[in-house]
Amino acid sequence: MKLPLSYYGNPVLRKKCREVEEINDEIRRLVSDMSETLEAQNGIGLAAPQVGKDLRLFITKVPVPSKDDPDQWEDGPLYVFINPVLSEPSPESWESSEGCLSIPKVYVPVTRPYRIKVEATDLDGNRFTEEFSGLQARCCMHENDHINGVLMIDRTDKASRKEIDADLRRIKKEYR
Ligand SMILES: [Zn+2]
Repeated sequence: MKLPLSYYGNPVLRKKCREVEEINDEIRRLVSDMSETLEAQNGIGLAAPQVGKDLRLFITKVPVPSKDDPDQWEDGPLYVFINPVLSEPSPESWESSEGCLSIPKVYVPVTRPYRIKVEATDLDGNRFTEEFSGLQARCCMHENDHINGVLMIDRTDKASRKEIDADLRRIKKEYR
């Protein structure tokens, strides 16, 4: 089932979310609904607070270069990160424009480390650790920010933040 999104201005997006205590049917259903929602929105990542749930959980589905033709992109794997812990950010960082399903049609430059290690629990309850780079790493950091109540607009530079001020006010009104 597709879930309604929480938009900028909704207090759930500013919460430090709670740990997931048990992977039960409710959590499995939530993840399945979130992945359907992500697909429908054509997004690459979605965190639980974006669908109104105060939980430390996010999913990503980042496109990967095609094996046959590296200039083409194909669907990447769906990752489920429950109670994630990020560590060892690389000293190299890069700037890229980010968007957010909770802040429609707004794009801001954000500088983030190029690589990051993510430890999390999967849907079977197993703890796993994987190192990510590039867009997949960026997506994990953006989504992990969400479960700490942090948004991309908090991480952009002052001038860019000012430029989108009117958009943010509009979204706050429009989606209340
Ligand atoms: Zn977002």
